[in-house]
Amino acid sequence: MSLLVIGSAAFDSIQTPSGSREKVIGGSGVYAAYAASFFTPVRLVSVVGEDWPSAYTDRLRTRAIDLEGLEVRPGARTLAWSGRYFENLNDRETLDIRLNVMGEEYRPLVPESYRGSEFLLLANGSPVCHLDLLDKMAKKPRLTVADTMDFYIQNQPAPLRKLLPRIDGLILNDSEARLLAGEKNTITAARRILEMGPAFVIVKKGENGAFYLSRQAIRLIPAYPSEEVVDPTGAGDSFAGALMGALAASGRSDPESIIAAMARATVVAGYNVEGFSLERLETLTEKEIESRLAAFRTMITF
Ligand code: AMP
Repeated sequence: MSLLVIGSAAFDSIQTPSGSREKVIGGSGVYAAYAASFFTPVRLVSVVGEDWPSAYTDRLRTRAIDLEGLEVRPGARTLAWSGRYFENLNDRETLDIRLNVMGEEYRPLVPESYRGSEFLLLANGSPVCHLDLLDKMAKKPRLTVADTMDFYIQNQPAPLRKLLPRIDGLILNDSEARLLAGEKNTITAARRILEMGPAFVIVKKGENGAFYLSRQAIRLIPAYPSEEVVDPTGAGDSFAGALMGALAASGRSDPESIIAAMARATVVAGYNVEGFSLERLETLTEKEIESRLAAFRTMITF
């Protein structure tokens, strides 16, 4: 079934203990769409400025990613983010974020052909823009999942609270869940978020895996035990993209299918962090995903 992803397309400048990269291709929409494309064709809504190299678009064109919704805005500059990871790779600091063309006044252009999409991923981005996109859909998607981050929890709390009752699931990391709910305990925080609207919450805990919480169930998925972490950027976005890609491919949105998709998402995110930017995803094959998934299944069965 059709999957629509909205998210950022960005220039990332990254420093990790393994090295650094300047102005490489990144952004929540880019990572999410790329990861989803291993499972299903994707429609991407995003915006870049005239400084965006066509070579970056070409790298997305090699995948089953429909780019009719990738707007190139003349006279504008692309979102630019730079970050540095600490030795443990779980913690990072944002050194600079310039929203540029994705600033407050940005409203997405949504092609007519995208508006009936059945699966919708609101990848990390402004909740104002997410609300606008929801209003532009021709019908309510079967499954709408949003990802968010501390930046929006702190800077756009009111639109975020308006968004939560309109989505089915929210994905965020543990510190963001505690920040959004104002709770010290992560599980309590996730329960509080359920009261704000979504039917389920997926909380990512870095190398400690992720958990799914609904009113009926809680399920835990460990992280894939990777020994090769080069650049954690986009781990969350590729997790969200692969999750929704796997669900759209199956056409299902029940809890068991979501949990099975979380395992696939964990595997893809684990591969993504093995290289800078899209480097690892660009060499990744479906066969590698399946083989690691089989190994992962053995590891978590008891
Ligand atoms: P993650 O590592 O999964 O949290 O995502 C990192 C990606 O998010 C990078 O590629 C950034 O370009 C992108 N990003 C950083 N800040 C923002 C923001 N405020 N809005 C949208 N995307 C962002």
